[in-house]
Amino acid sequence: MKLAIVVGHNARAQGAVRPDTGETEWAWNTRLAGMIEDLADEYPGIEVKTFFRNPALRSTTAEIRDVYRRTDAWGATATNELHFNSHHNPGATGTETLTSGSKLSLRYAEALQDEMLEALGLRDRGEKIVRTGRGSASLISGRAPAALIEPFFGSSPNGQQATDEPHEMRSLARAILRATQQVFT
Ligand SMILES: [Zn+2]
Repeated sequence: MKLAIVVGHNARAQGAVRPDTGETEWAWNTRLAGMIEDLADEYPGIEVKTFFRNPALRSTTAEIRDVYRRTDAWGATATNELHFNSHHNPGATGTETLTSGSKLSLRYAEALQDEMLEALGLRDRGEKIVRTGRGSASLISGRAPAALIEPFFGSSPNGQQATDEPHEMRSLARAILRATQQVFT
């Protein structure tokens, strides 16, 4: 199977910043994507490729259409868009996964959610079926079943502590690969 990893946001508008390290969603998730690619060899049957949004396009909608057109052209079996959450209240914490609600997208979201909870040990905010507004375009623009993950809140001390060590990022990468393996191989 072919897993397309889409890094959320873009090099110019990098998304939320985690105050503990100053790292943005785009930068942190670019590293996570690299780790998923490196570890994919250990998961037979999964081929991984990372896709980035093109900041030169005229709108967010155009960027999202363009990146999912490229995951389709590659022949993705599934797509997973990487983010992390942020809130002005540092007490907001936990792991959530967005899904379009289609059968396979939902199964994938459930598997990702289970594996990420085990890897990070954060609060279970559940799978969220999103059909309009923030995140929805990423879930419906490509042909493949899609998920969008928010493994932690970068604004939360809990979320920061669970994800600031290389071995923690590695467990998250493995969680994503295991969930992908369960649903699509
Ligand atoms: Zn984001």
